[in-house]
This record gives sequence, structure tokens and C-alpha cells, in this order.
Amino acid sequence: MIPFQEAKSIIAQNLFNMRKETVTLNESVGRVLRQNIVSSFPSPRFNNSAMDGFAVRSKDLKDASKMNPIKLKIVGVSSAGLPSNISIGKGECAQCMTGAEIPKGADAIVMVEDTSGFLDNDFVNIMTSVSFGKHIRKKGEEIKEGDVLIKEGIRITANEIGTCATFGYGELDVSKRPKVSIFGTGNELVEPGMKLGKGQIYNSNLYVFSELVEKAGAEIKMREVIKDDKESLKSFLSQALEESDVIISSGGVSMGRYDYVRDVLIELGVKEHFWKVAQKPGKPLFFGTKENKLIFGLPGNPVSSYIGFMKWVWPVLKDIMGENIEKPLYGKLDELFPREKTKHRFLFGQAEYKNGILVCRPTIRLGSHMLTSALGANCILSAKPGDGFLKPGESIRINLLPWKCIQ
Ligand code: AMP
Ligand code: MG
Repeated sequence: MIPFQEAKSIIAQNLFNMRKETVTLNESVGRVLRQNIVSSFPSPRFNNSAMDGFAVRSKDLKDASKMNPIKLKIVGVSSAGLPSNISIGKGECAQCMTGAEIPKGADAIVMVEDTSGFLDNDFVNIMTSVSFGKHIRKKGEEIKEGDVLIKEGIRITANEIGTCATFGYGELDVSKRPKVSIFGTGNELVEPGMKLGKGQIYNSNLYVFSELVEKAGAEIKMREVIKDDKESLKSFLSQALEESDVIISSGGVSMGRYDYVRDVLIELGVKEHFWKVAQKPGKPLFFGTKENKLIFGLPGNPVSSYIGFMKWVWPVLKDIMGENIEKPLYGKLDELFPREKTKHRFLFGQAEYKNGILVCRPTIRLGSHMLTSALGANCILSAKPGDGFLKPGESIRINLLPWKCIQ
């Protein structure tokens, strides 16, 4: 058995980077960016109107008011996408729509609401004075040409895709999605929806794994429940080793008589880097590599499998896609947290803000077979080895489940 940190650094030494691929903007959501997004032009690209109105010279309207409307001659129209080449002089204006280029000579926009509308088609009465630059969006006021807008390593969401579109990126370089094969082992496993026989239980782990693989931005290549026999394992694993970047198993890596996963992996040429980590739940964790394929054997107990995935596999999937690492978060316990003397201890938990302080507590269901402990959880709490309980008021590390919010 090796300590948690040692296992982490062994994994870190064996990671590779997924290759890049170019995808259309539409296909880029959820993918990890592998290029910087740089503005090839300033934004706004040209001075334009923030309002539907009239482009004017502010000094012509110094004394304008409702009581003293000033009549200007309309010399042209500038609309979005159809800028006019007009320029305006003393006593003149141009109709100018939102987003349209400001005609030469104009230095402010008067909103339609502050005018009389058209008089004889050629004139308009302006009912207000206007300050220099009013309602004009200035060229470059938001972004300068050459600014780095989004850095490599960011995952594309609605926040980023709009900016990529704004600056004309039709395609993006992103990481290829890792191909992941998942399998469960156990003669006792039955698929949900089927009838349970004596001693049987439903396979839940592969449903959790599938969802987590997708959420991480990877792609499921093979998924199977396999009986506890060496031949079936061998046939699945030889194909999975050919076709996957990452293989994740649940079950069959402990000390049981029928726990063949580790033996079969080693027979198939997988190099074992460690088996058993000082952690609870999930001590019999296997990590191996073959060429640059990564193989994780997680124990079958559903909480060990789920938490094991989040603590070990999730960060690896992010890392190989080049995604920036999330910063660790700490909160204050408001309940006891049961530590282990020599092992890291993980439990599902709930974190929330109370009077501006991030407080949290572990689930009350402590068993590694109790998957309902994930219900209502928004995080995993982790404590280093230590004597006795962590007490209310003490600080603890929080891994937020990224698809849950803090209320
Ligand atoms: P194992 O690691 O194979 O010894 O399994 C540990 C426990 O987890 C046993 O009670 C198994 O029945 C259970 N288990 C194994 N695989 C799954 C699975 N896919 N879904 C739910 N429970 C499982
Ligand atoms: Mg088993």
C-alpha cells in the first residue's frame, strides 16, 4: 500500500497529451481549447451607434430643448451593414440605426425618442441637447487588436463560444476526446430493468462511469459487464487495449478468490505502477500503463467506484486533454468528519454558504456500499490521515461535483 500523494505523483509521471484536432465552432462546445483565441480586429471594429436615432454635431444642439426644438436637415441614412459615405456639416444630420457606422462630421447620436420624427422627409426637429460622444460605441473600446481573449486549456462553454464567433473563428483547435472503455465485473451483476435472482444485485457502477466519462468530455468506446472468469476478461481487455486511451474497471481488483482483473492485465502486458493506496474507501486501486494507455482498476463497491473515479480518473482525463487544473477549495465543517489514522478519508458531502462562509458536512451514510450517500451531495470531502474526528469549525478540502451548484 502506498500513500495517496505518492500514487498521485506516479500517475503524473505517466500521463501523455491527447493530440489536437480542428472542429467547427458548433462542435467545439464541451471541448478543451488547444489554441489561444486572439482578436484579429479591435472591437467595436468602427465607431457605431448604440441607438436608433440621428447622427448630429453636438455643438449644433447646445440650446435645443422641448421648448426650443432645433431643426436639422437630414442628408442621408446609415444602417447596420449598409454604411453611407455621407458626411454632415453645420445644421445637418443623418439618420443612423443601432450598429450603423457614424457618418463623418457627426460626434453624437440623438435617440429617435428625443426628436419630432421626420418633417417633410428632409428635416427633423431635435428636442434635446446632447453631449459629445453620446450613444457612440467607440472603435476598440472593448478589445484591442491582438488581445488574447481566451487562453489554451479552457473548456468551451456558452461563455466562450460567443466570443469565438464574435471574432470570426469558424473552427477551433481542441483536444481529441480520449477514448475510454469501461467494464464491470461480477457474476452477481444484473442490468437494471431485469429480474433479480437470489444473491444478485443490479449493476449501477457502469451507469455512473458512463455519465462521468461523458461529463469529463471523453468518449465511451467499449462498455460491458463481464463475468468473473479469466477468458471473458481477457477477450474484453485485449480489444479494449487496442482501441482505448483509458480503461477503467469496477470490481475484481480486491483480494477475493475471483478477483482476476489485475492478473489478466499483467498477463496482457500491462505494467503495474501500483495496487492499493492508503485511502478509504477504495484501497485496492490499481494503476497500470501499456504504451501510453492508462488503466485504472477501481474497486466494485459503488461509493469506492464513484469517489475513486472523481479523485483519480477525472483529473487525469482533464490533464490529458490539457484542461487547466481547478483550484482546490476549502470549507469549514459544521459536523464531525471521521478521519482514518493512516489513510485519506473521502465522503460525499454537502457544501453551502452560510453568512458568507463556505460550510460543509459529510453524508451520514458512511458505508462504501451505500450509494444513496451521493443523493443530495454536491461535493466530495477529503481529509488527510490523522487521529480522531475533524471537528466542527475545522477546515476541510472540498471537491465540488462540477455539475452541482453551491446553494
Ligand atoms: P469487488 O470489488 O468485485 O469485490 O466488489 C465489491 C462489491 O461491489 C461487491 O459487493 C459487488 O457486488 C459490488 N459491485 C461490484 N461491481 C458492481 C457494479 N458494477 N455495480 C454495483 N455494485 C457492484
Ligand atoms: Mg467482484
